[in-house]
Parts: sequence; structure tokens; C-alpha cells
Amino acid sequence: MERFQLYINGEFVDGAGWFDSLDPASGRVWAQMPEARETEVNRAVDAAHAAFSAPAWAGLTATARGKLLYRLADLVQEAAPRLAALETRDTGKVIRETSAQIAYVAEYYRYYAGLADKIEGAHLPIDKPDMEVWTRREPVGVVAAIVPWNSQLFLSAVKLGPALAAGCTVVLKASEDGPAPLLELGRLVDKAGFPAGVVNIISGFGAQCGAVLTRHRKVAHIAFTGGPETAAHVVRGAAENLATTSLELGGKSPFIVFDDADLDSAANAQISGIFAATGQSCVAGSRLLVQQGVKDRFLAILRDKAAAIRIAAPDDMTTEVGPLCTARQRDGIIAAIRASIDAGAKVITGGQPLAGDGFYFPPTIMDCTDAPDADCLRKELFGPVLSVVAFETEEQALQLANDTQYGLAAGVFTKDLTRAHRMIRQLRAGIVWVNTYRAVSPIAPFGGVGLSGQGREGGLAAALDYTTVKTVWLRTSDDPIPDPFIMR
Ligand code: NDP
Repeated sequence: MERFQLYINGEFVDGAGWFDSLDPASGRVWAQMPEARETEVNRAVDAAHAAFSAPAWAGLTATARGKLLYRLADLVQEAAPRLAALETRDTGKVIRETSAQIAYVAEYYRYYAGLADKIEGAHLPIDKPDMEVWTRREPVGVVAAIVPWNSQLFLSAVKLGPALAAGCTVVLKASEDGPAPLLELGRLVDKAGFPAGVVNIISGFGAQCGAVLTRHRKVAHIAFTGGPETAAHVVRGAAENLATTSLELGGKSPFIVFDDADLDSAANAQISGIFAATGQSCVAGSRLLVQQGVKDRFLAILRDKAAAIRIAAPDDMTTEVGPLCTARQRDGIIAAIRASIDAGAKVITGGQPLAGDGFYFPPTIMDCTDAPDADCLRKELFGPVLSVVAFETEEQALQLANDTQYGLAAGVFTKDLTRAHRMIRQLRAGIVWVNTYRAVSPIAPFGGVGLSGQGREGGLAAALDYTTVKTVWLRTSDDPIPDPFIMR
């Protein structure tokens, strides 16, 4: 059985013990993962803290940091088949998506490699003639990066890339579910030539590992992706040392189809928005709001497309929907569907787990038009379940769309440009996709509002989150300092 190791201070080491990792396609143990507890967390943070000011890292120019990131990008690209296979094996995410996503992960590292020597301070036209004043953008310090099990390589690239470009050092915690691809990433970081301690990668459980990390007094910033409940724990931990946080949380994103939309195109986008990655995507367009006049036609297209989806083993390139990552996920979805039926929702398709081994659940569509408080419509299920509500007017669509505490993404399908602009302005979400869905790029900021989090990943602004501003005052006069009792 394969065994993985932690990567701490440039060495591959065992943890306090081992825990089993299940193959979601069979439900059986396939590998053992190292468990980091307090001792290992402390070693990792101490290593990152020492590396932060050691000349091997702090003495590098920004351009040299960028070159290390370029090297890491190349290594990720070369190792893409193994990384994709590991992610698929350990999380059940279909190989079709992991392969494509990992190739694109390399582009995120390249984007931040190029950005490293473009993080600039500013010269200020100060209102005092005998002063030169400028700002420096300096790295914040040790970053705790915490990711969930879905898209771990992607979600760690959007943290490691900007943090390293800015000059920070990092302790990256993988999820207890499916940590294999991140532990493997340690080998690539090592090969890329980052000095020991600059990047440390650990796996372990939330309470014994994640909580210790977030409360650590040497951690300056926490970049967290996960659910809102865990985020509240993270913020409480951060408060002990006033560490800053960026939070990328879940969503219950509306996907709005107006009666003038190109229905075939919208249906493909909706399928991608809810059934790709087996629905385990933070931006899943899990609430379909469809205008009454096209509801039946649109649902018929969706039903046909859902029925044609190939559900099979995740390591088969032709598979479109694979298993959920954990039995816990599947059981939560089953319970939410039962409660929603009791609350008046109707199953249009799917709704029952598939028989046999593994954590499979079929693409499911629920009509919640008469069940406004159904769990399916309110809770993030993180699975292939689409909840549908019909609307009559634009105002009603907007009211339904914003009737959630989440605010990550929204999709709008219409050919009416002026309506699209009105919707863009009024939708409460960090991302609005118009006539498309689930598109990302390293150049574009990504994140949400409300229970979906705060702070952005991707783009220039994300790199600035890992910096702090130092203001420098330099007096250019040789005259004695005037009246010392007056603030200048
Ligand atoms: P969780 O919030 O349960 O876990 C996220 C990470 O936090 C895991 O590494 C977990 O470790 C760790 N953790 C758990 N408890 C603590 C704690 N007390 N202190 C510090 N860390 C802790 O999320 P899931 O794994 O269930 O992932 C699904 C969630 O992630 C969904 O809500 C989804 O929407 C969100 N997500 C958001 C994205 C975004 O960019 N907005 C992208 C992808 C997912 P462990 O696994 O050991 O419990």
C-alpha cells in the first residue's frame, strides 16, 4: 500500500501516525497518509518562520523568486499525469477534469512568477519640501494555507503563487480527505529549488492540525478555502494573534435563464455548472431560476442531457460524473433530498444513490418552485443536485437570486444586453458570468461576499493581500530639526 510523507523544512518526514485514505470509487483503503499533530505543525511553522528572514530566501531578488515559480510551473506541467491520477484516485474527481485542471494550474504559477517583480511600492508627492517619502510592499510573513479536498492542487496554486511571489513562506495544510496530490506536490517544490522551510506541506485533521496552525502565534496570514462553519473557527483562531485572513467559502449560486436565452447553450452551461466535478464545486450553479415561459422546454433539454451523462469510474477518460469524495458527502445529500421532498419539492430526475461500491450519486434535478425553504434550495449540498424555481419577472428573478446568505457566483442567460447590465449591477455575488459559466483565469479575481467569504484569489490584488505597506520618510535637509514639540 502506498504511503505518503509530510514535507517540512526541506525534508520528507513521517507524522505522529498514519490515517487511511479511501478510494471513493470503491470505498476501500488505497493509501496511508501521514498525520501532522501539534509537534509537526510547530516544526513546520518554525521552519517557515526561520526561512522567512534567512538570506537564502529573504536575500533573493523578486526576479529570482519569480524564476523559482517558473521552474515549479514547468515541473507541475511535466508531472501533470501523475498529479491528475493521484487527485482522481484520492478524491474521485474524474480524470477528464483533473488532467485539464492541472495543466491550467501551471498557468497560475506562471502568472505569479511573472508578477513577482511587478509588486511595487509608490513614490509619494509629499507636502513637505525637505522630505522624500515612498512606500515599500513587504511580505507579511508566514502564511497558513488551508484547503478542502476538492481541487486541492488548484486551490493551493492560488495561494502559493501569490504568497511566494510576494516573498512570504508557507505552511500548506491538505484536507484529511484526499491529501495525496498535495503531498506529492512537495516533491516538485523540493525539485524546483526553493530553500528549505519556504514551503511546508502537511496533512492532518481539522481539530488536531488545522486549528493548531490557525492559532499559531508565528502565523501572520491565513488563506482559507472551505465551508463557512470552519471559516468561523479559523477566524476565531486568527483573532488570538490578530493574523489577517482571506476566506474563500461555499455558495448556493443562482443560474438565471430568461425566456430570450439560447436554451441549448444555457443548458450546456447549466450541466457544466452543476454536474461537472460531480457538483463538488464551490461555484456550482445549484439554483436554477428559469422564466416560466421556457421552464418546461428548458427542463426537457436538461433532463435529456442529464440522462445521457456517463457515470462510471473516475479514472476512465470518458467518464463525466464519478463518485462523491466521501460517504459523508453522499449521506448528507440523501438526507437533504428526503427533507426537501417532505417540504414539497418534486424529483424531476435522479434522487437516489446508485447501488454498488463507491460513493456514487446520479445527476439529480429537483423542482422547488413550491418548496421555497427546502434544504436543496437553501443549503450548499456540494454534489450533483440542481434545484429549480420558476419566475415571471426580472424583479422576481433578482429577488430570488439574492435571497441567500451566500454570494459567490451568479449566471445570467439572456440576449438582452440592457437587462444583462441591470442584473450585473444588482446581483449580490463576487463573480457574475453572462451567457457562460464556470470560467476561471489567473488574471481574473475570484471570491465572494457574505457567507461566501472575503478577499480575492487570482489577479494582482491577490498578491497584494500577502504584503504589508511600509512607509519610508527620508529627510533631505542638513539643517537642524525645527521645533521638536510640534509634529511635522
Ligand atoms: P471544510 O471547511 O470542512 O474544510 C476545509 C479545510 O479546513 C480542511 O483542510 C479541513 O481539514 C480544515 N479544517 C477543519 N476544521 C478546522 C479548524 N477547526 N481549523 C482549521 N482548519 C480546519 O470544507 P470541506 O473539506 O467540506 O470542503 C467543502 C467546502 O469548501 C464547501 O463549502 C465549498 O464550497 C468550499 N470551497 C470553496 C471554494 C472557493 O474558492 N470559494 C472552492 C472549493 C471549495 P479536514 O479536512 O481535516 O477536516
